[in-house]
Formats: sequence, C-alpha cells, structure tokens
Amino acid sequence: MTEQAITHWIAGRPWTGTAQRRGEVYDPATGQVTGRVDFASRAVVDEAVAAAVDAFAQWRHTSVARRTQVLFAFRELLHAHRRELAETITAEHGKVLDDALGEVARGLEVVEYACGIPQLSRGAYSEQASTGVDVYSIRQPLGPVAIISPFNFPAMVPMWFFPLAIAAGNTVVLKPSEKDPSASLLLARLWAEAGLPDGVFNVVHGDKEAVDRLLEHPAIKAVSFVGSTPVARHVYETGTRHGKRVQALGGAKNHMLVLPDADLDLAADAAVNAGYGAAGERCMAVSVVVAVDPVGDGLVERIRRRIAGLTVGPGTAPDSAMGPLVTGAHRDRVAGYLESGVADGAVLAVDGRKHPMAGDPGGFWLGPTLFDHVRPGMAVYDDEIFGPVLSVVRVPSYQAGVDLVNANRYGNGTAIFTNDGGAARRFQHEVEVGMVGINVPIPVPVAYYSFGGWKDSLFGDAHAYGEDGVRFFTRGKAVTQRWADPGHGGINLGFPTNS
Ligand code: NAD
Repeated sequence: MTEQAITHWIAGRPWTGTAQRRGEVYDPATGQVTGRVDFASRAVVDEAVAAAVDAFAQWRHTSVARRTQVLFAFRELLHAHRRELAETITAEHGKVLDDALGEVARGLEVVEYACGIPQLSRGAYSEQASTGVDVYSIRQPLGPVAIISPFNFPAMVPMWFFPLAIAAGNTVVLKPSEKDPSASLLLARLWAEAGLPDGVFNVVHGDKEAVDRLLEHPAIKAVSFVGSTPVARHVYETGTRHGKRVQALGGAKNHMLVLPDADLDLAADAAVNAGYGAAGERCMAVSVVVAVDPVGDGLVERIRRRIAGLTVGPGTAPDSAMGPLVTGAHRDRVAGYLESGVADGAVLAVDGRKHPMAGDPGGFWLGPTLFDHVRPGMAVYDDEIFGPVLSVVRVPSYQAGVDLVNANRYGNGTAIFTNDGGAARRFQHEVEVGMVGINVPIPVPVAYYSFGGWKDSLFGDAHAYGEDGVRFFTRGKAVTQRWADPGHGGINLGFPTNS
C-alpha cells in the first residue's frame, strides 16, 4: 500500500516545504502505516500565523452578510461531503462509520448555529442614557486564534470552535491531532471551495513543538484546546502567561448513577452504548456505573449479556458496533489497566483480552471489558483509561453515589437513571459536573447551549460553542456618543456623571 504524504495547509494551499520531522499515521484496523504527516517546526507555525495575520486584515472588514454567505456555502459542502469525511475519520481513527457520521453531524450542527452570526453578534443600544447621550455595545473579532484538538473527534472538536471563530471575523490556525490529521485537510479544502479567502483557515500538523509556538506567538490572541488534563493545564497556564484568552478542555471520568427504581434494561443499554461506543475513546463516555443497592447484580448481569452480543470489527464493516483502539501503544496502555484492576482486587466480569479480535495480530484490538466491585483508590477508578473498560462501583445509597461523583477530580459529564423526578431534580442541583443527563447517557449539549466540564475537565471560564463560544471569539466595546449640541458645551473637569 502506498503511504500518503500529509502536510500543512497554509494560505489556501498545501505547504510545499520539506519537513525535518514526521509522524506515522495508522489504519488502526490493520495496524499498517498508511501515511506520514509532516510535523511543523516553529518556523512553519510562524508561516501559518503570518498567513492568518494577513488574512485578518481583510476578513475583519468583510461584511457580516458576506461572511454568512461563506458559512452557508461551507454548510452545504460539508453536508454533501459528509460520507467522505466520515470515511476519512474511520480510516485513521478506527471508529465505525455510523459513529463517524454522527461526529460529522454534531459538527455540522455548530456550523448551522454559526450561520446565525448576524443575530448572535448583535450589540445593545441605550438611547438617552444621559441627556443627549446614547450608549451602545458592539462585539468585534480578536484576530488570529489557535485551535488545538485531540485524536478522538478529528472533525467534530475543531468544529466546536472554528465555525464561530470564522463567522465572528477571526482567522484560524488549527493544530489537529497528529494521529488522525487528514479530516482537517478535507475541511480546509471545503472552506476554500466555499469561497473563504486564503489564510482565514490554516492547518499545521505536529506535536508539542508546534503547540508551544502557538501558545507563545504574540499574534495569536486566543487558544481553544481540547485534550488530556495535564496538557490542558499546560496550555492554559502557558497561553494565559502570554496574555491570551484560553479555554482548555481536559479529560474525564464520567459516572452514571443508577437508582433502585430505574428501568434496568434501559440503564444497561445506556451503559453499554456510552461505555463501549467509539471503543470508549470519547470524553463523554461513561466509564463508571454507580449502582445503588440492590441493583448491582441485576445491572452487571444485564451489561454482561449485552457485551456478549456486541460485534467488534473494522470500522468499515457494516455489522461492526465497535472498532479498534487508535494506536498499538494506546491499546497496550488500556490493556495494562486490566492487570492492575485485578491486582487491586476488582472483579473482572468480562475480560476484553479474551475477545477473539484481541488475538488478531494486525490492528489495535481489545474487546469490551467490565470490572465489578471497583473502589476509589484503584487505578482503574482513579485514572482516565480512555478505552472500552467499564467499571461498576456499588454504593449503599443515593447520597453515597452523589458524594462519589462530587469527590472525583473530573467533572465533565454525568447521568442519572431513575423514574423519580424528585431524585433527578435533586441530582441536577447537587452534582458538581458541567453536563448532566437525566436518563440520557451522553449529554453532549446541542449547538445552541455550550459544552464544557467543571473541575479538572476545563481550565478557563468559557465553555465551547453556544453563547459562550460567541463571547469567547469576540471582544466587547462600549461606545458613548453625543452629537454636537450648542447648548451643551463648556469646560467641566469633573468625572462624567449622568443627568
Ligand atoms: P492529548 O492531550 O494527548 O493531545 C491533545 C492535543 O495536544 C494534540 O493536538 C496533541 O498533539 C497535543 N499535545 C500532546 N501532548 C502535548 C504536550 N506535551 N504539549 C503540547 N501539546 C501536546 O489528548 P489525546 O490523546 O489526543 O485525546 C484524548 C484526551 O482528550 C482524553 O483525555 C479526553 O478526555 C480528552 N478530550 C476531552 C474532551 C472534552 O471536551 N473535555 C473532548 C475530547 C477529548
């Protein structure tokens, strides 16, 4: 098989230089190298930022009407190319095609939201705030902004940010994950086809070197990051130290609380869908099921039965429900938790290493795994595993369940399964987590709300997309105006007051 050469996209075209460093891109279903991606040096990042600076000089002045037209055209192209984009994702990430199509659909939703930028970015106007004086507010773009994204949603996560950033008049340098870089290039081509001026949307590939240059580059005004918590913290601290606006979304350990009155079949379906979908490589995956006594045995049995019916196979096969993990190193890391969980005293109810696919020497396979009787203090509980490993923690009461969720360092998503509206309402009030599902296992908010966790799952105060997104990618200006009034002149050195 020929290996594809994957390079940066700067000022509306592929980069033509020669990279000093490159990374390998795999087909996770076969384990074969399918591409080599150029890694940007500091100089290449500077080239992309310079293109974004140049483009900003024009894009900033482009009318809202024209910007919106480009967004609508991009929306149409994205919709028309959604299958191609999904296939690109599956080829490098490994997730099943339906799931990749779902990822594209959720990104498309943010593009559609951003098409409303004329309405979203409107200011306010107060006539006669003082005698003869009007006050109004306007929101303006920031300049070139950086987006740094993780491997698990190579199309959707960048689309949490760039539609609104571009709609609001900013220019973008995207640094996608080096593990699955090709989706971002298809998006870049669609932008060009939609009529976006060169340099408004740029892509640089690479690793820490490229990220760190973006974080310190004086022309980059804001950074949107999504990835693991240690890197999110580094991005937040470094970016803000360099005077930038930063939103850095980190890792997760999402708990699903199942109360004794819940419909256990519904809860088991939800746990399996949210635990093993995308092989658990979702920041909103459920990784801990908290079973309130006495539902533990019934729930574990139901989950076990459903796991037995799951088809694990290549993402391109129509009957596959779950694909491989993204790399061999990640698969080995996840499999390591199976050993540590057993050593720590958890009960291995389903062992993913025994799945027939796990024996396939090509591809990064691990079957769905279920641990029972997990407790805080065990690595399988404390760490974000980011693989197809579901842990069941048993607790004696609702209160013990909420206390467990609230004591966790992460606060991305959570869900409660119950038929008791009062209990659900109390949970939504008490739980210290940014996104809550009530009988909904993966509560990713729709585009017109905002996405973001609490605690170690987000650094900064702006969530992604929705109103927070509009606010993040614009800065406010308040104007106080008075037009010449011959009766209103005179010298007055006092501080202006209203009259
Ligand atoms: P990662 O942190 O390894 O990488 C994220 C990005 O940072 C990539 O572009 C990568 O190239 C770059 N990077 C990696 N190490 C770096 C370093 N030392 N310095 C500077 N940049 C660095 O994350 P990942 O493995 O690609 O993605 C999985 C993680 O992302 C999980 O922890 C998951 O929970 C998290 N995630 C969170 C959300 C959310 O909304 N909170 C969404 C998706 C994924």
